[in-house]
Amino acid sequence: MANNEELFKNLIAHAKEYGFIFPSSEIYDGLAGVYDYGQNGVELKNNIRQYWWKAMVQHHENIVGIDAAIFMHPTVWKASGHVDAFNDPLIDNKDSKKRYRADVLVEDHIAKIEAKIAKEVEKAAKRFGDAFNEEQFRTTNPRVLEYTSQIDDIKQKFYGALERNDLEAIRQLIIDLGIVCPVSGTRNWTEVRQFNLMFSTAMGSVSEEASTVYLRPETAQGIFVNYLNVQKTGRMKIPFGIAQTGKAFRNEIVARQFIFRMREFEQMEMQYFVRPGTEMEWFNYWKQERMKWHLSLGIPAEKYRWHDHEKLAHYANAASDIEFEFPFGFKELEGIHSRTDFDLSNHQKYSGKKIQYFDPELNDSYTPYVVETSIGLDRMFLAVLSYAYHEEKLEDGSERVVLRIPPVLAPYKAAVLPLVAKDGLPEKAREVMDTLKFEFMCQYEEKDSIGRRYRRQDAIGTPYAITIDHQTLEDNTVTIRERDTMQQDRVNIEQLPKIIRKRLQDNK
Ligand code: ATP
Repeated sequence: MANNEELFKNLIAHAKEYGFIFPSSEIYDGLAGVYDYGQNGVELKNNIRQYWWKAMVQHHENIVGIDAAIFMHPTVWKASGHVDAFNDPLIDNKDSKKRYRADVLVEDHIAKIEAKIAKEVEKAAKRFGDAFNEEQFRTTNPRVLEYTSQIDDIKQKFYGALERNDLEAIRQLIIDLGIVCPVSGTRNWTEVRQFNLMFSTAMGSVSEEASTVYLRPETAQGIFVNYLNVQKTGRMKIPFGIAQTGKAFRNEIVARQFIFRMREFEQMEMQYFVRPGTEMEWFNYWKQERMKWHLSLGIPAEKYRWHDHEKLAHYANAASDIEFEFPFGFKELEGIHSRTDFDLSNHQKYSGKKIQYFDPELNDSYTPYVVETSIGLDRMFLAVLSYAYHEEKLEDGSERVVLRIPPVLAPYKAAVLPLVAKDGLPEKAREVMDTLKFEFMCQYEEKDSIGRRYRRQDAIGTPYAITIDHQTLEDNTVTIRERDTMQQDRVNIEQLPKIIRKRLQDNK
């Protein structure tokens, strides 16, 4: 079995070979951090987006959607704090000429110490067996205590320096910790600089008139500036939510790990407007709801974990991430943030327009508080793909690559395959295709042996393969083959829509 790094490489190659993801402008050698979705990728992406939209908008009577423009008035980004504070601290290694995020270097260093603690715990658990009390061990073992205090010390220095925007102290910390460049192995670091992640361009044709506009770095602001429009025209009563999916752009310092960190990506965000003072209740509610959504796909709970933020963004009073175990470790997939009234209040201040809600129950007006859920569509795509990708050895000694994509998300739900391309089987298969294609995405294939066609469908994650054979012409039955178990049942053609619908509903 390939190790994680190899698996990840194979997955990227597979995603390209089977039309899921191509590097952008590949014939010109690509553009760093930008990717295109191919014929199968776009289906999977649309399905993830739709699954999210249904869960958020269709299933909640008090959540509605919008689709705001990517360009917004430049003052939006002043009010939101992005012009002044949407920065990453960057540092270069003078020998390798590689650029890093200073915060990521420090966090990776902390992760290494955490791994040492985990090793101590594991060793002790083995030694003590059933009698092992992990909590007690973690709070009394001298070595673990030493590591824990090292971590606390680093965090205190690091977050303190970030807070004060003391870039020299961050550099000093990197040097004191002995952090080396993973490429050159040296500690020959430059100064730390702040780097704003927003892309800007000029709007207007004459240069003197042109004004700087930004490509939005998050979709949320399109919702905040439309809060009043939606609340009034939709006659929404607090608590209520506004959902949106769409492109966002960030000039990431290091765009790598495939579609995990892109410069152009898509977000699925929902802002939930609540009465001040109730935000923690709703924060916890949405944490639970969002985790339920992930688990409803049938991806095992061990693949997910929570990470509570210690350093809060400039707008938040509580924040937790849902992390997913990608092939390169647990990393952020979704954020749930309590954003207080930061955004609405600032838009009120900068625009001079009153942004308030009259609460009939309290007989009082206030600026609503906001709890948001924010997930990257591309990151979710990568989570699904890395969970789904399997290289399998079969009983007969042959191998297959199968994408165990949750059926509800699969690009194609069914493949319709005449056993041979003669004897009237293609015509019959076309009839089957016609009865299914209006309800389900189906693919018709008659080239190559049936075995090779099954492999191709496994490789793009089609959950059901329907084969039309000579018996079909006699008794109107077909075989339906399950992608994961490869088990085949014989069923009547008339039953097919019902069977597929039922299996998709059960997500099996
Ligand atoms: P990170 O710490 O990984 O840079 P973030 O905390 O800045 O992410 P948020 O601003 O909370 O991310 O954005 C919400 C979600 O948008 C993230 O959970 C992630 O799924 C997605 N996202 C953010 N930046 C990118 C990116 N560069 N490429 C792909 N998805 C992204």
